[in-house]
Amino acid sequence: MPINNRIADFHADLTAWRRDIHAHPEIAFEEHRTAALVAAKLEEFGIEVHRGLAGTGVVGTLRGNQPGERTIALRADMDALPMPEANDFEHASTAPGKMHACGHDGHTVMLLGAARYLAETRNFAGTVHFVFQPAEEGGGGGRVMVEEGLFDKFPTEEVYGMHNWPGLPAGQFAGRVGPVMAATDQFEITIEGRGGHAAQPHKTVDPVVVGSQVVGALQTIASRNADPIKSVVVSVTQFHAGSAFNVIPQSAWLCGTIRTFDAGIRTQARERIKEIAEGVALAFGGSATVNFRFGYPATVNHPDQTEKALAIAERVAGAGNVDREIDPSMGGEDFAYMLLERPGAYIFIGNGPEVEGQKLHQVNYDFNDEILPVGASYWAQLVEDVLARAA
Ligand SMILES: [Zn+2]
Ligand SMILES: [Zn+2]
Repeated sequence: MPINNRIADFHADLTAWRRDIHAHPEIAFEEHRTAALVAAKLEEFGIEVHRGLAGTGVVGTLRGNQPGERTIALRADMDALPMPEANDFEHASTAPGKMHACGHDGHTVMLLGAARYLAETRNFAGTVHFVFQPAEEGGGGGRVMVEEGLFDKFPTEEVYGMHNWPGLPAGQFAGRVGPVMAATDQFEITIEGRGGHAAQPHKTVDPVVVGSQVVGALQTIASRNADPIKSVVVSVTQFHAGSAFNVIPQSAWLCGTIRTFDAGIRTQARERIKEIAEGVALAFGGSATVNFRFGYPATVNHPDQTEKALAIAERVAGAGNVDREIDPSMGGEDFAYMLLERPGAYIFIGNGPEVEGQKLHQVNYDFNDEILPVGASYWAQLVEDVLARAA
């Protein structure tokens, strides 16, 4: 296939909806307008709508024209980012300081496109839930939906997600079995030294020197502690200390992020950060306090569902247009929480060349409207295949 012909027929509608959502971005848990738009469209298609899960979450439930026990869920995210948009095209953000710079506007509309087609045709057996979640960008809307009983209220055997990917040619797909996005934890380290005159360092415990040693030593987590076959990133991203050119400060504050795929490495990295910071500070006569904040767990694709999803992607995009072994990304994704509850697959759809400004989270990014019917066709085909009618 090809793009589904019927879906191609409403490409202009999909583009208009996508641009409307793009022009009205809403950030984590504030997706009221977007959720209302989604719910209204689903109702217009004749789909049963449930509102209010995780606040602004929307779930549409559709049964096929043949009875069946099987159920799957397809998930899209609706939130924008708290950042200004630099584009000046007509559908640019009308909300200052907010922007759909991750393409969740496109994700929402691709799923709406599939819902419209599937509601017209119902050419499947069983039930599909269309899950529109809030707050993917750091708010953990997917986690909140799961905690509020997403899979109890909407029993689901398998769950599927999709993200656009700049750098992958438009309309192609990619994915892999196993870890595809990383766990994203945060750490902060406060180093207590003893401040004093910069001309009398021998009377101080300099937290800048101690902190610098800590930053250096943290590099050994990746190079000396973690199994080299497995991946870990420990990045110190902030280092604050001092207030004058001639004063050795009393304390220093550092923070950063830990990215891992493996649960064991995730724990090991945390333990080593604490040991290194405390041990190094002690060696220099100071002390360190270390705090962690757990972020999203790793997004890990299940083998059977991923094979199935990529085979369906190949039917839509054509042989040779699906990369089945894309390198995992050290970015995070809260679809991870859904994959911890149910088997499923999270794949990428190409957004076109990653020319300057067209990367995710950049001020000149825009979702590529050309791929709307491609993504919607993938969703529709997935439902018709996974919930195939008896012959
Ligand atoms: Zn993002
Ligand atoms: Zn995103």
